Parts: sequence; structure tokens; C-alpha cells
Amino acid sequence: MFKLLAIIITLLSFQALANEVNLYSAQKEYLIRPILNKFEKNTGIKVNMVTIDKSALISRLKNEGKNTPADLVLTVDIGNIYQLKKNNLLQSVNSKIIKKQIPKYLRDPENMWFGLTMSFRAIFYNKDKVAAGEIANYEDLSDQKWRNSLLIRSSSNIYNQSLVASFLAHNGEEKTKKWLKSLVANMARSPQGGDSSQIKSLAAGEGKIAVANSYYFGKLTLDKGKIQNKLVKDKVKIILPNQDNRGAHVNIRGGGVTKYAKNKENAIKLLEFLASDEAQSFFANINFEYPVSKNIAIPDSIKKWGNNLKSDQINLEKIAKEQERAIYLMDKAGWR
Ligand code: FE
Repeated sequence: MFKLLAIIITLLSFQALANEVNLYSAQKEYLIRPILNKFEKNTGIKVNMVTIDKSALISRLKNEGKNTPADLVLTVDIGNIYQLKKNNLLQSVNSKIIKKQIPKYLRDPENMWFGLTMSFRAIFYNKDKVAAGEIANYEDLSDQKWRNSLLIRSSSNIYNQSLVASFLAHNGEEKTKKWLKSLVANMARSPQGGDSSQIKSLAAGEGKIAVANSYYFGKLTLDKGKIQNKLVKDKVKIILPNQDNRGAHVNIRGGGVTKYAKNKENAIKLLEFLASDEAQSFFANINFEYPVSKNIAIPDSIKKWGNNLKSDQINLEKIAKEQERAIYLMDKAGWR
């Protein structure tokens, strides 16, 4: 009798175990929690989320090894995502739903990582100092007419590393070296602050041009229905770079199923949900990022920056593979 009871209890607790999924996320909670709640409601699968800083995520998974409770991981920037794959922390997922929703260049050729939202590395200018059309491409950042005019953060920042890696993938080492040398000479100040701070300093009159991710501009100009920073809104213009050639360098937030996932089926279900139109439309409206699914209309708040972003369609894995060489070249060029 007791034995039977023990078996029933074991089965019940197994059932409970089977109906959850453990998520390690390096994304801000407000960007993901509401849509996880929706998933829980739709499926009855509980999502246990732990927020971990993006720089600590890989070492945590490495240390936990086979014993990791994580089934799914989400982080920012292809550089970080690729490191998960390179460190053998992910497994391949073969899902028709995901393949249909996410364009090829925003997911791993071996199906280990998937982009869920997209943004681009934008160029900005101060309207009082620069006329429309004076700058159009990343290549122009090295033009000598911008001596002591460029605001950009440090070379230790992964967004800049990815930008340089993409430049390298397209233009090769010699051109990249020259570009970097002049770009460093064009800096208005020694690199400091984050992406938002480049845009704010530009608005305040420091420098003439700046580089930052597109969604920071969205957050500074219009957020939660009101203007957040009037000076930025009045003085700063955003440019969609390289629209007449290869397209703007884009980056993703995304992730994959862990190699040792105990709730693999549920992890795949959650990933499929995050790629679904329902989740994609949520993402598009909360953080000024582009949905990866073509079915979702671009919100007006993003559309007004420039119609129909042309994005560079090189597979992000190719960019990630150039990251190491990019860091070396940035360092050699004296980019602090
Ligand atoms: Fe960011």
C-alpha cells in the first residue's frame, strides 16, 4: 500500500517536473516577463526564470555543466550567443515553426541559436552642425571631415566589436585597418559611457556624429507614450546606414536550448512561442526593436526613422567568427 502511494507520489512529482521550463535570461525582466506569462497561460507550462548578467551567463553554464537546471538561455548580441555555441553549451533544434518565422541570416546554420528580435547599429548627427545626406555609410565614419567629431563608446563594448567584425567580414583586413585608424582619429573624446550617453552628449553639443544601437534612440525620444529627452528629440537625427549598398549592420537578442536541458520539449515549445507572431508583435512594441518575423508590421515609432530598413543579410555567424580579429585590430588602432 505504502509502496503504491510512493509510486503515485513519484509519478505526480514527475508530472510537475515535466510541466515546467527553466530559463536563464540576460535580458531585462520587463522585456520578457509579460510574454512568458502569456506562454504559461496558453500552455500550462511554468517558466522559472533566473536573470543573469550577460557577462556571467557563459561561466555559470560552464561551471554547472551537466547539472545545470537551465533548459533555455536568452542573451544579447551575436558575440555572446555565438560563445554559447562555441563552448558547447547548446544543442541543435529542428523546428519547422521556428525556421518559418526566423529568416536564415538571423539563425545558426546548425540550428543551435536563434535571433528573436533585431536592431541596427545606427549613425546619428546633430542637426545644428550636420546637414542631411552628409553621412550615409559606416565607411564614412573615417572621413577626415569628421576629425574630432565622433562620439562612440569603448572597444570593450560588444556592440562595437560586432560592428567592426561585420566591417571586416565585408571589407577585409587592410581596409578595416585603415578605416579604424582614421575612425580613432575622428573621435571627439576618449571613449566613455554607454550607447545612450553618446546620443545625449551629441544632443548637448559635444561632437557632430555618434554611433549607438537604434533602440536607445527610441527609448530616449519616445517611451511609454511621452517624450523622454526633449534635447535629443530636437537636436538628433538617426540614419539607417549603408542603405544604398549592403544594408545596415544588425544584431539580435536571442538564444537556444541548452545542451543538458532536462525539459527539452518544453524549451522548444517556449522558443517556438517566442518566435510566434504573438510574441513577435509584443517584442516589436516594447523596446523599439524590429520583429524577426516578416508577418509583423513594423510599429510606426520605428518606421518614422526611415522606411523599410535594408539590413545586411550576411549570416551573423560569419560576423561572430571575425570578432576575435576585430578586437585585435581595434586594440592595434588605439581604440580605447
Ligand atoms: Fe543594449
